[in-house]
Amino acid sequence: MATEDADQSSTAVVEIARNGNVILVVGPRERRLQVCSTVLKNASKYFNAMFGPHFSEGQDLRVARPKEVPMPEDDANVLEILCNIIHHRNDAVPETLSGTEVFDVAVAADKFDCVVAIKHASTLWLNPREIQDVIELGHLMATAYILDNAQAFSEITLAMMLRHKESYLPLADEELVPWRTFYLLEERRNHMRAELQQILLDGKIQFGTDDGPECSCSWSSRHSSAYMDLLQREGLEPLKMLSNMTVTEVLEKMERMNDPTIPREWKPCNYRWHRNPDLRIMRKSKLDIFKKGNHGLCIDCIRSSTTDEKQTCRIKH
Ligand SMILES: [Zn+2]
Ligand SMILES: [Zn+2]
Repeated sequence: MATEDADQSSTAVVEIARNGNVILVVGPRERRLQVCSTVLKNASKYFNAMFGPHFSEGQDLRVARPKEVPMPEDDANVLEILCNIIHHRNDAVPETLSGTEVFDVAVAADKFDCVVAIKHASTLWLNPREIQDVIELGHLMATAYILDNAQAFSEITLAMMLRHKESYLPLADEELVPWRTFYLLEERRNHMRAELQQILLDGKIQFGTDDGPECSCSWSSRHSSAYMDLLQREGLEPLKMLSNMTVTEVLEKMERMNDPTIPREWKPCNYRWHRNPDLRIMRKSKLDIFKKGNHGLCIDCIRSSTTDEKQTCRIKH
């Protein structure tokens, strides 16, 4: 968002409010945004003070000759979006923005003290959709934090745990949200990976651990070793799972995984307990519970940084 459109002439006026009595001259390329001071004052404490009686910007505001207010330090794209929202120009408000763009708008809304005004528009933007890039997701998360949107914060942080396999440290360096958020993201993602490992281990346990004196065909060890071969082929060993795959990729692999194959020449003995467990059905029901049980982080817990029992969280967890 740092660069402005090259074709935007510095003298052309973007008419956000027809007959607006103020022209904000924004950014180094001086984009001119025609706005209405009363609308800005109603939405923003910052503009309410700026266009109040105590500042020069508030003097002599007339529609016939809109007053120019220089804002060289601000980003023209961001301020244009913000002014469009405040003026209810829904036709000009983009329906989707990247994570970093949404973040820039939220930071500006915070600066101009009009966070409430963008709450509704931002619910459209705070959807993690199919975004895979953790930097984009991280900015979306920080926006939900600034705007105090508990539901979006939970959904976005869940996407960050499911879709990102490397460290969260590059994001932590940007100080977008409190540090404890990144501890919690890592902790919860580790827990998810361990849960999935447990489900895989449960599959092996189904074959038993001991062939026993009544079995002459080594049923348990045959099946167990075929199962371990299968996990190896699928790359689902603990360390590979940790370094090579996102949680979503592991989940998809586990859902698609076939049963272990036993060599054709091997024949089972007549021991009555030799029965193949339906691994796929058992695994599916455990994965369904896993998916239902996992949620994103709770913004209220992160904000309060206490374990006070009286605290009420907006997200059930
Ligand atoms: Zn046997
Ligand atoms: Zn909570």
